Amino acid sequence: MTLTALLAEAGLTGRGGAAFSTARKVEAAHAHGAHLIVNACDGELGAAKDGWVVAHRLAELFDGAAAIAAGSATTYAAHRGSDTAHRLRAAGLPVLEVPARYVSSEESSLISLAQGGLARPMAKRQPFVRGGRDSDGRHIRPTVVLNAETVWRAGQVVRLGADWHRSFGTTAEPGPRLVAVSTPTARGVVVETAAGAPVLDLLAAADPVAVASGLVDRSPGVLLGGLGGTFVAPADLRGLAWSDEGLARVGARTGPGVVEVLDPAACPVEFVDRCLTWAAGESAGQCGPCMFGLPALAADWRALAAGDHTAHGRVVSRISRLPGRGACRFPDGVAGFAWSALRVFGPHLDTHRHGRCDAALRQNDHRTDGRTHVHAG
Ligand code: SF4
Repeated sequence: MTLTALLAEAGLTGRGGAAFSTARKVEAAHAHGAHLIVNACDGELGAAKDGWVVAHRLAELFDGAAAIAAGSATTYAAHRGSDTAHRLRAAGLPVLEVPARYVSSEESSLISLAQGGLARPMAKRQPFVRGGRDSDGRHIRPTVVLNAETVWRAGQVVRLGADWHRSFGTTAEPGPRLVAVSTPTARGVVVETAAGAPVLDLLAAADPVAVASGLVDRSPGVLLGGLGGTFVAPADLRGLAWSDEGLARVGARTGPGVVEVLDPAACPVEFVDRCLTWAAGESAGQCGPCMFGLPALAADWRALAAGDHTAHGRVVSRISRLPGRGACRFPDGVAGFAWSALRVFGPHLDTHRHGRCDAALRQNDHRTDGRTHVHAG
């Protein structure tokens, strides 16, 4: 059986967020002799699983990459100066060092960087696996990007078989998968699970005390999927299954496999403020929604947090104008994040009608350097 037939039988899909069929990507890569980039950047807010694969399953990752590349060149992408980059280099693997910015590890950014360009998203005229030219007319050689967990899983399928892979998860979403969970008391804990598992079990596996002590129930919200993800109220976690089918009930997706439980003692509106400010500074700033829309949204959200309730209408208007207008989907993801923040934190926003809430004022008192601190990965 060919590798693509085996991967199709296993039902393996990309673990980086898009959940596209790995068999179809690999088939196209083989048809065009594509260069393979293994993305181990963990670029999403709170992501940690690709670094975990490099730290704990490097030999199996290498085997998966060798099977997929089938003789074509392979490069491993990791954030510059990260532990993951050091581990890959120490193992003698070719490393593409990527600036630690949010959009730098997007698929087309990596392809651009690997071919001597800037680590910025490129407009897609056709799938990069076929090669072609970018919008500046630069020749792009055929390249396929797969995230590290996907490549590791492909190696497992080769070694253990399609039936082994399908013995986990559901018929529609088979296979084991990693999720990075953060709580106020545990950051970036990587848990192995499968589609259909209760979300509360994931949280209990990562931080049992947070669940048993009621910290999760008291949280103002749980963020599923990072900066391109969705906030969910803790009450909605009951009976919620970790799968795209299950999370659709709350408007969320499994995406890049990231879960963050917000701190009950902290202000969620301030958390969103920091994330939006960070998002506005992280884009490549080459399209309208990122150059103008994200900074304006961050400014209006900050005004809302400070008690200017007239900013609510502007926030709604800004969010509605972000999607579908950038060269990549970064602004679309931030729009979904902000919509869900408005929905889940609506009651809390009422406590900001005359200025920041007590928790926000305490947080601001503790912020001594006036800079935004969001931990990515
Ligand atoms: S939408 Fe934003 S992040 Fe994406 S390419 Fe345009 S400027 Fe860059």
